[in-house]
Amino acid sequence: MIIKPMVRNNICLNSHPAGCALEVQRQIEYVKKNLKPEENTPKLALILGCSNGYGLASRIAAAFGYGAVTVGVSWEKAAEEKRTGTPGFYHNTIFDREASKAGLVSKTVDGDAFSDEIRSETVKAVREAAAEAKIPAKIDLVVYSLASPVRIDPKTGEQYRSVIKPTGQAFSGSGLNMMDGTIISVNVEPATEEETANTVKVMGGEDWELWMEAMDKEGLLSPETRSVAYSYIGPEHSWPVYKNGTIGKAKEDLERAARAISKKFPSWVSVNKALVTRSTAVIPVVQLYICCLFKVMKEMGLHEGCIEQITRLYKDRLYAAGEVPVDSEGRIRIDDWEMRDEVQKAAAEKMKAVTSENVFDITDIAGVKHDFLAAHGFDVEGVDYEKDISPVI
Ligand code: NAD
Repeated sequence: MIIKPMVRNNICLNSHPAGCALEVQRQIEYVKKNLKPEENTPKLALILGCSNGYGLASRIAAAFGYGAVTVGVSWEKAAEEKRTGTPGFYHNTIFDREASKAGLVSKTVDGDAFSDEIRSETVKAVREAAAEAKIPAKIDLVVYSLASPVRIDPKTGEQYRSVIKPTGQAFSGSGLNMMDGTIISVNVEPATEEETANTVKVMGGEDWELWMEAMDKEGLLSPETRSVAYSYIGPEHSWPVYKNGTIGKAKEDLERAARAISKKFPSWVSVNKALVTRSTAVIPVVQLYICCLFKVMKEMGLHEGCIEQITRLYKDRLYAAGEVPVDSEGRIRIDDWEMRDEVQKAAAEKMKAVTSENVFDITDIAGVKHDFLAAHGFDVEGVDYEKDISPVI
């Protein structure tokens, strides 16, 4: 079939296998050039949320940059004869294929990472992967990169939903419809206490702790095992909906979990740069900021995507010589370039000046739209989108 993007309300409903394959290969090539294994770099890495965005980059960097055996967990839909799979399905398939070609052992577990069943399946996968690679079944890096709107508590069976809302006061501001460039006004009512608590339940640190406990109980961790989970802080004008909103509360809980896990295994929250992934595309306030930010960072030669961010996280932070550099709160900051004064000042000026008329000139809406489509395998250079292709690979 001929596969063209089907986008509704900033959500892309399909994906292109050839474009997804090229994106994975591009990231592999990048880490091969920019990372090399050292004595302290991971030999066996577990990546939770391995199929897209930051998790996919973390897995590619561990495997192709450091030669690590990787076990990845994600929840994706496989392709069918007449329907494309999710982008993550293609990313995983291509990753495993490329890993196998390169002689790297990889196992991918598909299913609900919040469930105890998937934790048990993962334990099995880790043991099998280690046996196949003839290395001890000791995970030395756990990356927690899940982004999900829902979670079923494995103990109670109760389902929780996360929301992106301010806490306390309502928020009014400008947002962007990325697909057509119209500036829209965004009004969001504050979350109820229950909504905030539910968001913490879904996107907070509880599940990360459960993963570490489960792996520890099975003897798969050692005192040297390092773990990292990802967060975002961003500019002050987004704080009412982000840092001080429901999701920010969940990220505070992630920091609590990092401190708790660190009592046994060195663990960090890494604050990453704002990027276009499947998760951010649905937040209009963030979209407008990202379009302004990308323009500024590209002009200043500071722009990075997921793979550049994770390469810097591994090389200059987690596996740099000496202590891991952290901020006053103990967090790793690879949003440092985004948060530079000159970058923030220039982005804020653009945010003030932008209108539906000048958005294509003064912001990088074109680049952001490209990243959004590329996250689904579309608009990727080198792919013939007129070519008949089977969605099943
Ligand atoms: P993403 O949407 O690209 O990927 C999410 C991953 O989670 C996918 O692999 C998906 O399969 C997996 N997942 C979701 N629910 C699951 C479930 N129930 N079971 C198994 N797997 C499941 O997300 P992303 O943007 O890369 O975000 C990852 C983390 O990075 C999040 O914590 C996010 O807050 C953080 N972060 C993102 C940005 C950004 O701009 N995108 C910036 C800073 C930090």
